[in-house]
Amino acid sequence: MSRGLYIDGEWRESNSDETIEVLNPATEEVVDEVPSVTNEEVQEAVTAASEAESEWALTPAPERGQLVRDIAQVLLDNQEELAGLVTDEQGKPLGAAEGEIADAADMGNYMAEWDRRIEGDVVPGDVPQEKITLERRPLGVVAAIIPWNYPVALFMRKIAPALVTGNTVVAKPSSNTPLATVRAMELIDENVDLPDGVLNLVTGHGSVVGDALVTNEGVDMVTMTGDTGTGKAIAESVADRLIPVSLELGGKAPAIVWKDADIDAAVDDILTARIANAGQVCICAERVYVHSDVAEEFTEKLVDAAEGLTIGNPRDNPDMGPQVSQGELDATENAVQRAIEQGANVLTGGARPDGGQFAHGYWFEPTILTDVTQDMDIIQEEVFGPALPIVEIDSMDQALEYANDSKYGLSSYLFTNNYQLVNRIADELDFGETYINRTLGESWQGHHIGWNESGLGGEDGKYGLLKYTQLKTLYHNYQDPAGEN
Ligand code: NAP
Repeated sequence: MSRGLYIDGEWRESNSDETIEVLNPATEEVVDEVPSVTNEEVQEAVTAASEAESEWALTPAPERGQLVRDIAQVLLDNQEELAGLVTDEQGKPLGAAEGEIADAADMGNYMAEWDRRIEGDVVPGDVPQEKITLERRPLGVVAAIIPWNYPVALFMRKIAPALVTGNTVVAKPSSNTPLATVRAMELIDENVDLPDGVLNLVTGHGSVVGDALVTNEGVDMVTMTGDTGTGKAIAESVADRLIPVSLELGGKAPAIVWKDADIDAAVDDILTARIANAGQVCICAERVYVHSDVAEEFTEKLVDAAEGLTIGNPRDNPDMGPQVSQGELDATENAVQRAIEQGANVLTGGARPDGGQFAHGYWFEPTILTDVTQDMDIIQEEVFGPALPIVEIDSMDQALEYANDSKYGLSSYLFTNNYQLVNRIADELDFGETYINRTLGESWQGHHIGWNESGLGGEDGKYGLLKYTQLKTLYHNYQDPAGEN
C-alpha cells in the first residue's frame, strides 16, 4: 500500500482502516491503494503546519524561493517515474504526462522568481513626519485541494506560490489519482531540505478528508481546483470563518471561428483543445460557433481529423487515452445520449470503442455533433470528455450572445485575422481568458481566472501569487516630541 500521511517532516502510518483502490483507467487493474486518513490525522497535519508557520514566515524570501526551486528540480530529476505514475493512474498519454511534470517544474521555477519581488508600498501620511508602509504578509496555513486531471502540476501550482510567500501547506490529492502526488512528496522528503511542518500531505475521500481539512479551524486559506458544485460547497462550509478561498472551477469554453479564419489551423487547434487529456481539461474547447460561410469546410475537416486520431494504451503515446473513471465515462456518454435525444446529430464517434484493448477501461470515441441548438444541455453543461458540438452563426453579435449565454466564464477561443473583431471580443466576451488564433495552454506569467461560476480567485502570474498574501499597513510616525532629533 502507498503512503498517505506526511506530517511534520515524516511519513506516518495511518490509523484508518479505510483504504482507497487506485485503478488504471486503461485496464481497470488496481495500481495501488492509499489510506483515507482519519479526522484526527488531518488535525495533526494542520497542527504541524500551524506550528511551522511563524518561523517559515520569517525565513528570508530568497530561501523560500530556493526551496521551491529545489522541489522543481526534484520533479524534473524524476520526470520519467512520476510521468509513468500519472499515466497509470490518470490515463493521459505518457508524452503528455512527461509534459505535465516539466510544466510543474517550470511553474515552480516561475513562482520562485518572485522571491525577491514580494513588494509593498510606501505612501505619505496625513500628518507631519509620517509615512505609511503596506507590506505583503502570508495568510498562514493553506489547505490545497487538488483534482485528478493534473495531479502533479496542480499540486505544484498551489504549493509554489503558497510557500514562496511564506505560508505552510497541507495538501490533499484527489482520491482518483493520489499516487503521483504522494511519490512526488516522497522524493521531495528524500532530496530537499524541507523544514518540518512546512509542507504536509493527507490522502482520502474529498467529502470526508477534504471536508475535515477545509473546515479545520487552523486553516487560514483554502485553494481548491475542481468541480463548480464542490467549490460552492467548500465556500459555504468556510463562510462563517471568513477565510479567503481561491476556487478554480469548471468551464464551457466557446471557440468562435470567423469566416476569415485559417480553417486548417482552427480545426487542428480546436480538436487539440477538445481531446487533450481525453477532454478532461477545464479550458478544453467545448462548443464551436462557426460562421456559416465556412461551416461546411470546417465541419468536414474536423470530422476527418477526429477520425484520424489514435486511441489506445496511454503508455504507447496515442493521441488520446481513456477517461479517468467509470463515473467520468458515464457522464460523457450520458451527455452525448441526451444531446441525441434533444435532436443533435452525431457525425462521428458517439460511443465507446469496441473489442480488444477496449474491453476494459473507460474509453470514449472523439465525437462531433451538429444540429445543436443553444438551449441544449450539451451547450450549457460542462462535458469533461471528448465530445464537441458545432453551431453555425451568421454574425459576431450572434456568436457573442451565444458564447456569453453560459453560467461559466473561464476560457474562450477566437479564430480570425480581423483586428476590429479581436478588439471587440476583448471588450465583450465575458470570460477570464481568451486565446486568439491558438490552442490551449496557459503561460505562468499570465493569469488563469474563471469568471462567473468558473471560480473565485485566479492562479498564476503576479496576481495569482498575491492571492496567498494579505496586506498589513504600518503607520510610521517619526515626530520627536522632545524636539531633539
Ligand atoms: P471535484 O470532484 O470537485 O474534486 C476536486 C477535489 O476536491 C478533489 O481532491 C476532491 O477529492 C475534493 N473534494 C471533493 N469534495 C470535497 C469537499 N466536500 N471538501 C473538500 N474537498 C473536496 O473535481 P474533479 O472531478 O476532481 O475535477 C474536475 C473538475 O475540475 C472539472 O469541473 C474541471 O473543469 C475542474 N478544473 C478546473 C480547473 C481550473 O483551473 N479552473 C483546472 C482543472 C480542473 P476526491 O477526488 O477525493 O473526492
